[in-house]
Amino acid sequence: MQNLSNRTASFTDSVIRRMTRVSMEFGAINLSQGFPDFDPPKPILDRLAEVAEQGPHQYSVTWGAQNFREALAAKQSRFMGRPIDPDTEIVVTCGSTEAMMAAMLTVTNPGDKVVVFSPFYENYGADAILSGAEPIYVPLEPPVFRFDPEKLEDAFRQRPKAIILCNPSNPCGKVFTREELDIIAGLARKYDAYVITDEVYEHIVYAPHRHVYMASLPGMAERTISCSSLSKTYSITGWRLGYIIAAPEVVDHARKVHDFLTVGAASPLQEAAVTGLRFGDDYYRDLAALYTEKKMLFMKGLDDLKIPHTDPEGAYYVLLDISEFGFESDVVFCEKLAQHVGVGAVPGSSFFREPENRYIRLHFAKKKDTLEAALERLSSMRKKMSGLRG
Ligand code: GLN
Repeated sequence: MQNLSNRTASFTDSVIRRMTRVSMEFGAINLSQGFPDFDPPKPILDRLAEVAEQGPHQYSVTWGAQNFREALAAKQSRFMGRPIDPDTEIVVTCGSTEAMMAAMLTVTNPGDKVVVFSPFYENYGADAILSGAEPIYVPLEPPVFRFDPEKLEDAFRQRPKAIILCNPSNPCGKVFTREELDIIAGLARKYDAYVITDEVYEHIVYAPHRHVYMASLPGMAERTISCSSLSKTYSITGWRLGYIIAAPEVVDHARKVHDFLTVGAASPLQEAAVTGLRFGDDYYRDLAALYTEKKMLFMKGLDDLKIPHTDPEGAYYVLLDISEFGFESDVVFCEKLAQHVGVGAVPGSSFFREPENRYIRLHFAKKKDTLEAALERLSSMRKKMSGLRG
């Protein structure tokens, strides 16, 4: 038999998604892959039931149904602070996973460089490899996850085509300040690079932190490819509704990539999700308040266990420092944690470029009961894991 393509040879399947399977295998409470265990808003589900009867059930326009794009443009214009044209500046994709991949394929040629902050959401590594781009990693130094502007400029001196910016950041929970974004924007303008954002946690931010959209900075709308999704905002991760918002010339290219990759996002789900896109500002305030409560509950529980952990400014992940357990491999630690303690986590090494082995990532996008049950199980972690060093 001929060899298969070597395009995928240098990366593994997603560790995040593998840990969901490991959690299922051991009946662990799955705090690995980030998704809620509570229902989406009722009005969206009611609308979905109507759509099941009335349609649409056939393809929408490849770059997104007209009414979905109009509702999205109205909502994002409000939050991003600039008028977005639904006809020329939006591509609706199958989740932000496709949006990010399409953005990379739109911007880069094989051999081009892309700046990626480390730790990073693991898809970016595979996105870069699949598009033939070469990542230049710039560390966000734990425990505060700041970047060194000098190191960032060194990376830009290598003339990257783009920088990937996950803000609020998965897995470290960083919300980039206006000043930090100004530095990144200044370098992107100075070295003529695009900024590809992943802003799926745009509405999950903890006071006093505030999400600032890169595209809203002076001169940045034309060079920012804003990727995001409805997954986290409306608790519909399985609906796979994401999007790119960018300048019309960029969108023209991205639409071609998208058209041949997937044709389009599911049309009945776009129709039902319009209901969510039309929610008023109070919905987003309530969402932030809900996650603030979850964060407080979970942080308090972890504090009681006296395991050192990060304090996220946004998104819904927390990194626990497991150095005290002395495991050589955080992957083995997570497997044993799922098996013996009954909680699913993601090994931190899958997010870091650096040889980092001291973190595991848990998420708290779960019902109060689930979080309490997980904390209860974690209370035996020190006892159970200390004897298991493998
Ligand atoms: N963003 C989620 C996480 O980091 C998962 C997203 C996905 O698996 N597509 O866990």
